[in-house]
Amino acid sequence: MKLHEELKNILGPDSVSVSSVDLITYSRDNLPLTIFRQRQAKAAYLPDAIVWPNNYDDVTKILKFANEKKVPIVPYGAGSGVCGGAVPLKGGIIVDLKRLDKIIAVNDKSLLVAAQAGINGQILEDKLNAKGYTLGHFPASIYCSTLGGWLSTKAAGQLSTRYGKIEDMVVALTAVLPTGEIISTKAVPRTSTGPTLMHLFVGAEGTLGIILDAVLRIWPLPEQRETKGFLFNDVKSGLEAIRLIMRKGLRPAVIRLYDEKDTALAMGSLGLKTEKGLLLVLGFVGNKSIVETESKEGFKICVEHDAKELGKDAGEFWWKHRYDISYKQAEILSEETAILDTIEVAATWDNLNNLYEGVKAVLDNYGYAMAHFSHAYPEGACIYFTILGEAPSEDEAEGFYKKMWDEVMQTVINDGGTISHHHGIGFFKGEWLKKELGNGFDLLKKIKGAVDPNGIMNPGKMGL
Ligand SMILES: Cc1cc2nc3c(=O)[nH]c(=O)nc-3n(C[C@H](O)[C@H](O)[C@H](O)COP(=O)(O)OP(=O)(O)OC[C@H]3O[C@@H](n4cnc5c(N)ncnc54)[C@H](O)[C@@H]3O)c2cc1C
Repeated sequence: MKLHEELKNILGPDSVSVSSVDLITYSRDNLPLTIFRQRQAKAAYLPDAIVWPNNYDDVTKILKFANEKKVPIVPYGAGSGVCGGAVPLKGGIIVDLKRLDKIIAVNDKSLLVAAQAGINGQILEDKLNAKGYTLGHFPASIYCSTLGGWLSTKAAGQLSTRYGKIEDMVVALTAVLPTGEIISTKAVPRTSTGPTLMHLFVGAEGTLGIILDAVLRIWPLPEQRETKGFLFNDVKSGLEAIRLIMRKGLRPAVIRLYDEKDTALAMGSLGLKTEKGLLLVLGFVGNKSIVETESKEGFKICVEHDAKELGKDAGEFWWKHRYDISYKQAEILSEETAILDTIEVAATWDNLNNLYEGVKAVLDNYGYAMAHFSHAYPEGACIYFTILGEAPSEDEAEGFYKKMWDEVMQTVINDGGTISHHHGIGFFKGEWLKKELGNGFDLLKKIKGAVDPNGIMNPGKMGL
């Protein structure tokens, strides 16, 4: 019997597809390399089938079947990942989790939400807002990504400095192992019961199992927000202001410093008049009196670093247009030789400026390179580079792009940074992950071998 016939027997006919249009649609995610291939009409990585489980039992049955037959399984949220994590590198079954989209419970007393992994990000946030809460997780992809994808890539929202990354929000989860066995961890504030099993699945990019649901922290909707724009003279003074804001224990919701080229782009997209200087957007949300105190302190630090105040309008423009720029990629990448990508790295304050200069110098050889510093911590920050370039020809696009990434990743490792702050590894960064982890990678491989001895879970991802 053919694979899709066996799957239809297990799940029913409405939960399986092998139509050409579906196979091609699921042959890529948002990794530019897979987009280059598609624009050259080379759909390189076709799955054998796509399935949409309706309940947990369906997921268990699919995994038991695939494990027995040794067929690759690729968990799939919404395919917004930008590293090739959801690409069916070795064919097999795409398990699209979008039908598992329920909010299971909201716990007001303990401020927790339990939701299924396939729920769309904006729908989850809207439903929480209607009850008076927020999750506080606002990735630019919120309209086109899922809870399971966020957890599996350790995603970061634009307000992560206030609310944390997704790994700071998750309290418990339920996952299915390749054998079909279901593991649930307990929703408690903290435990002292050995290594946290939940974190085996957080950031694992579907290589160890499928996440079915999770319990996450939520917050009452903020009473107040105060946001202003500032213009700094240079990157160093802007970074110093951010460092001192974090060192003081302030918790801004948004703190983003754009370098010169990114400022030009950001000011334009925010509808602001272009002026000399580097844009910093600084905003606080939450309880009214705390926000008033924190914003006063934060804004003062900016002024003390010779920043020119742009006022609240600039801040409010940012809130209104904060996702716009992220949705231009598809349009630009449809051009035959266009290269457009983002590279998000992080380092401690003592390495941050060096890392910025080093990566920028590499990227300047490949096109128009810009960066902003966001997701700040008392110990350091993330740098988010954007590169807009043009390959010498359509055929050379892939080689040009890989060479650029190679040089950037080596620079990041040399300069003491991490190769990814929140996009993850996918299949594309696997070799560099080995360099970053050193002999830690051998341990990761042993864990993978123990949990998934037949190697069915998302093979080829994270270098595994
Ligand atoms: C326009 C745009 C803006 C973006 N902005 C941000 C941003 O601000 N912050 C950010 O962090 N990222 C951002 N991203 C990247 C992307 O949205 C994130 O990586 C997101 O977390 C992926 O979610 P997804 O549901 O689309 O997952 P997918 O792309 O479908 O999958 C990602 C990985 O997770 C695995 N996976 C998915 N669901 C499960 C599950 N239930 N169990 C186990 N494994 C699973 C997949 O196999 C794959 O390895 C952006 C992407 C785009 C296209």
